[in-house]
Amino acid sequence: MLDAALALAALTLTAVAPSTPPSLGPTVRQVVVHEGARLLFTHVRVLDGTGRPAVEDRNVAVEGGRIAAIGPGADASAAAGQVVIDGRGKTLLPGLVGLHDHMYYIARPDLDATGHSDPPLVVPQMTYSSPRLYLAAGVTTVRTTGSVEGYADLNLRGLIDAWQVPGPHLDVTAPYLQGKSDLFMQMYQLRDAADARRFVAFWADAGATSFKAYMHITRAELGAAIEEAHRRGLKVTGHLCSVTYPEAIELGIDDLEHGFMTNTQLAPGKQPDVCPMDQSSAFVERAEPGGPEATALIQSLVAHHVTVTSTLPVFEHSIPNRPPLDPRAMEVLTPEARTDYLYQRNLRAAAPPEVAAKRAATFRREQQLELDFVRAGGLLVTGPDPTGNGGTIPGFANHRAVELLVEAGFTPPEAVRIATLNGAVYLGRERTIGSVEVGKAADLVLVRGDPSTRISDLRQVELVVKDGVAFDPEKLLESVRGRYGQY
Ligand SMILES: [Zn+2]
Repeated sequence: MLDAALALAALTLTAVAPSTPPSLGPTVRQVVVHEGARLLFTHVRVLDGTGRPAVEDRNVAVEGGRIAAIGPGADASAAAGQVVIDGRGKTLLPGLVGLHDHMYYIARPDLDATGHSDPPLVVPQMTYSSPRLYLAAGVTTVRTTGSVEGYADLNLRGLIDAWQVPGPHLDVTAPYLQGKSDLFMQMYQLRDAADARRFVAFWADAGATSFKAYMHITRAELGAAIEEAHRRGLKVTGHLCSVTYPEAIELGIDDLEHGFMTNTQLAPGKQPDVCPMDQSSAFVERAEPGGPEATALIQSLVAHHVTVTSTLPVFEHSIPNRPPLDPRAMEVLTPEARTDYLYQRNLRAAAPPEVAAKRAATFRREQQLELDFVRAGGLLVTGPDPTGNGGTIPGFANHRAVELLVEAGFTPPEAVRIATLNGAVYLGRERTIGSVEVGKAADLVLVRGDPSTRISDLRQVELVVKDGVAFDPEKLLESVRGRYGQY
């Protein structure tokens, strides 16, 4: 038998500076299994996040919060202060990097079985449950991608970083950059370009690290916001409507949310700076994948290094007869949130066949455009967008996002790369997170089974490691049972 310690020492390619283990607060400690230990995964399959095929039978050592060594599988008995984790039949992946991972839930007051609800639409903040749900799923880094409670998200980041509250690393997106609109009660409405510049400066000073433009922003406001954000080294994404994709590319936007679904460039009678609400997905409905408009747009996105964020789970819910929610996802909802979701699922199921067929075709087309974008050299990232009909649940829907990318035609390793390394690249953190590589932070997920051949095995999370601290996904889920939708 190999002496595992010697074998691992010989395999350490990069010297890893030891760092002091974090001191965990009591709330975090409740959901942690191994604290401050050196971890050694033995005989584990590694799907490393780079898009390369999985490698069978590896030993992976974690020390000082980092990946210290990766080598051939070998039996080992635990050295002092070390925990050995038998990885046989399991797969180790990098922690997921979610790039459309809100901290709120969309509830509709007095929603009834016919789908009616009265204004105002108020979006409750999920500061307690969302970070736990993300972490339980192995999502170790998220961009909040639009905030309804900017201070809550910023303070949450502080608590997570101080190990007082469990959750992923946060790129806190400022409150939405929205133009004149009464769509959402909790959004500020920009007055003009100078106001947009001031808004960006204010939230950047407050600690926000990214920005998101919303559906009714004008070109002038978006241009000013991008300029101010870039001046500070920060990025801007957009869920657009009033501004078309080509216009936003011209203005220097960094990322576009919802794939190609919110491009209004082919909306009939499109007026500049005006959002045609009923034509918001005009592009996907009209532009044939491989056709001239789609090809030109994809080429322009790639040439201008504009990232695209895939949010397939939130769109899947508009189509009848798609797979039901994971039962464990149903269990985390409050009874009210569960009722709302089931009302809306029932309404979708009642859609006339021609409407259902059109939605399914649009969804399929969106998947194809995302595949074409990557094949043309584009950087695709992903996040679930926990909004919609209430069935897009943090964490669970991050797994669904990867499954839907595989359904789109990506190989499982490619889809995992989109959900891990690509996200890290967008955030400019690819040197420290996003793949299983010696020297990188020990942000890892251990799942039962083999997601490199059966992507749904991603759901079988057994252990989540963040900066070397190992969390119990079951304890995290148990702590939010019946709470998502409440707080
Ligand atoms: Zn969103």
